[in-house]
Amino acid sequence: MCSRCNYREILERAGLEATPGRLRVLEVVGGHPAPLSAADIHRTVNRTGRLDRVTVYRILDRLVREKILQELSLGGRRRLYGMAPSEHHPPHPHFRCARCGAVQCLPPGGVRVDLGGVRRVFAGEIREVEVRLEGLCANCLSRA
Ligand SMILES: [Zn+2]
Ligand SMILES: [Zn+2]
Ligand SMILES: [Zn+2]
Repeated sequence: MCSRCNYREILERAGLEATPGRLRVLEVVGGHPAPLSAADIHRTVNRTGRLDRVTVYRILDRLVREKILQELSLGGRRRLYGMAPSEHHPPHPHFRCARCGAVQCLPPGGVRVDLGGVRRVFAGEIREVEVRLEGLCANCLSRA
């Protein structure tokens, strides 16, 4: 899903050293079609090398702070991580299954948000919009 991104370049542009750990975390998150929890990322990273849990969390925090990764609040207790919106990663809405908790990325532009009405009554500056849809995923629906 992320063949157009050069992770080394992304890190260096943010003034971060392209350490093997950071590169590996970006490969895992960027290569996955849905957002991942820190535990998922930790498990996947460790299939090809060793990074302890604390290091993975520290890398995630740093990449979120530099706006390379995005932390998504999807209603559950888990924090999920995906690539932050950028030239290769347009902002897109997410779907969360209310029954099994599965989270899916939806196509960019699939939900149109019109901020006109908000801007008329809200004097502040809106910098980010996160759209979350909730319902039943196809799996749960077929078992209902
Ligand atoms: Zn990418
Ligand atoms: Zn489900
Ligand atoms: Zn996504």
